[in-house]
Amino acid sequence: MKSATFEVKGLFEELDHLGVEKRVGALPGVHHAHANPASASVTVHYDAGAITESMLRDAVRDCGYHCRGEMQPDHLCPVAQPDPHAAHAKHAAQPGAMDEMAHDMGHGAGMDMAGMVRDMRNRFIVCLAFTIPLFLWMPMGLPLPTPPVPFGLRMDQWLFILASGAVVWPSWPFFVAAWRALRNGILNMAVLVVLSVGTGYAFSVASTFFFGGTVQFYEAVSVLLVFILLGHWLEMRARAGANDAIRALLDLAPPMARVLRDGQEVQIPTAEVRAGEVVIVRPGDRIPVDGVVTEGETQVDESMLTGESMPVKKAPGSLVAGATINKSGAFRFNATKVGADTALAQIVKLVQEAQNSKAPAQLLADRASQWLVLVAIAIGVATFVAWYWVIGQTLLLAVTLTITVFVIACPDALGLATPMAIMIGTGRGANNGILIKNASALENATRLDVVIFDKTGTLTLGKPEVIEVIAAPGHGEDEVVALAAGMEQHSEHPLAHAILEKAKQGQLTAMPAEAFTNIDGMGARATSAGVRALIGNRRLMDSEGVNLAGLEGEAERLAGGGRTVVHVARGGRLWGLIAIADAPRPTSAAAVKALRERGVEVAMLTGDNRATAERIGGELGVTTILAEVLPGQKAEQVKALQAQGKKVGMVGDGINDAPALTQADVGFAIGAGTDVAMESADVVLMRSDPFGVVAAVGLSRSTLRKMHQNLWWAVGYNVVAFPFAAGVFYPVTISPEMAALAMSGSSLIVAANALLLKRARIDGLR
Ligand code: ADP
Ligand code: MG
Repeated sequence: MKSATFEVKGLFEELDHLGVEKRVGALPGVHHAHANPASASVTVHYDAGAITESMLRDAVRDCGYHCRGEMQPDHLCPVAQPDPHAAHAKHAAQPGAMDEMAHDMGHGAGMDMAGMVRDMRNRFIVCLAFTIPLFLWMPMGLPLPTPPVPFGLRMDQWLFILASGAVVWPSWPFFVAAWRALRNGILNMAVLVVLSVGTGYAFSVASTFFFGGTVQFYEAVSVLLVFILLGHWLEMRARAGANDAIRALLDLAPPMARVLRDGQEVQIPTAEVRAGEVVIVRPGDRIPVDGVVTEGETQVDESMLTGESMPVKKAPGSLVAGATINKSGAFRFNATKVGADTALAQIVKLVQEAQNSKAPAQLLADRASQWLVLVAIAIGVATFVAWYWVIGQTLLLAVTLTITVFVIACPDALGLATPMAIMIGTGRGANNGILIKNASALENATRLDVVIFDKTGTLTLGKPEVIEVIAAPGHGEDEVVALAAGMEQHSEHPLAHAILEKAKQGQLTAMPAEAFTNIDGMGARATSAGVRALIGNRRLMDSEGVNLAGLEGEAERLAGGGRTVVHVARGGRLWGLIAIADAPRPTSAAAVKALRERGVEVAMLTGDNRATAERIGGELGVTTILAEVLPGQKAEQVKALQAQGKKVGMVGDGINDAPALTQADVGFAIGAGTDVAMESADVVLMRSDPFGVVAAVGLSRSTLRKMHQNLWWAVGYNVVAFPFAAGVFYPVTISPEMAALAMSGSSLIVAANALLLKRARIDGLR
């Protein structure tokens, strides 16, 4: 299954995200679609065999929405952009391809977030400008004085003109959105706004022209709309601010790149860099795309992608990523990944998908909001019938209460409650090198009972070093290392690197070894000068019946000291031991401590010897040690803990941990880079820092708390306000204006509460 995120822009869409979701979700080949009113985009999960991306784009457009296409940093993608400078200045704010503008359906389409905020503000100002005189005139003026009336119009006709100015243009987007929603079989807040404003206005107009102007709601309707527009404007401003994280990421890639073409150094737009080209980078430049260094040495600041503040050394053969900053030397590199394939573009895609993913609670809230509208319409009608016909009150009171019910029930806050929080939470994570892939990962991360850390490369640096060599009687230390090195030449294991490094330092020639075979989780076997040789742990020696030459005690002493003990044997007899240490990462102990303080149990998983593991685990404060686990059994260990009813988090470097990461309730991939890790994990920690797990858990908990607060607020407000609006506590009622104020205020509170997440103090986060 594939996924793509499309920007769905414009003011009408803003009010009708469920409509987009339903239309696109119903297409053949589409698994599901999630629209996010807060980011004005929709993420579609689809089957690439059944429907293509361009078909999807057309479909989104056919619903009447302007669609900018898949979201990417413009200057990374070769879209139709004649002027690269303009492309950079406008990127992420303007539609990328102009031809798509041709599909504009009318006002509001193709507007960016800032444009929509401005448009909403203008509508508010116009509405207010007409409402003020209306408001001042009307309550004082009734019953309407005859002369002096300018231009021979009746007073109520003047009121009609003012009210029309306040209502018609300013409320237009709501009418369009309501029409679209109804066409898609959706009931949303626009429908209610139209019902309340439309009913009041139409009623008053009819009264003015046909019934002598006795009963009018001009003033009520206008003031109501003033508040609705004000609320919407402020709320959209808040939402525009919520997506700063993505914008900041998009801004990272430089607009221009320097490449070598026909032996000449030329400046071209980054979007035009092709894979395989030689890119030239000067000190202080931002690196345009991903690639491999071919010439020169330098230090690169990768903090924007990894959160790691220390510059990273680069030499020929090193990988460089687009958007990172070259700190010191000039260098050249071979572009390997451009456009949508760069690490930056992948991260942006991941964060956008996360932001558009829906928490289970929101799926419920979206469904509830539909019912709420339906219930509101029913209660509104019942209110009118009860007050006008049953109780026999005035038409004025009955209609006023009905309008109030429609307004109070607007499920605006409900629709925003969790998307705002998710957006800000995931965005803040992304700025700190913590990529939370979706809303369910976020929810699960708050409920973890136990977090399992892989030892090598996760809690430790994964750069083992030889500390001590002990030779058995009759052998020299150099001989032991030479034999080991001969075998390890064929291995990719981190321990092999340490041994080869040791041989290099001692300028030893490796004893040649053939027929090398890896024995998972234990070591390896080979033949050296025609004799069977073995390298690995005690278990391997025991299973092969190797004579330990009296070194058992030494091995135990070293293991007790936290060393990994590599046994080197030939011809059925041990030649010696190589003690290897892998230093813990500087933040490992703090991360373990912080997690335990937060009520999360910590376990360490390793293929290493139990004594070694217990010593290291003890130093870090880990109590549960899962040692001597074969690589294939890691997922089993996770399952075993889950079988005890625990929610399990697994932290690993992703290379052989992928099955365990997938099995865990939340898989954390540490030190990103490998695609496998990105794919199989729920949370990607760009920085190789175990404390990122603490930060991720803290961020998830804060975000979930915000989501719950917002949902409670949104639901509670409607529940409390409903009976008041319907006049149950008559004569204590709410006027339509007050209802509008309360409704707008409630969505503003939800938005503002979510924004607080940007500044919340969370350990490990900037
Ligand atoms: P981990 O990744 O947790 O360190 P592995 O499953 O990779 O564990 O390895 C488990 C143990 O097997 C190691 O601690 C080591 O003792 C032994 N071993 C595996 N491969 C080798 C090798 N190439 N050389 C020496 N020892 C090895
Ligand atoms: Mg490992």
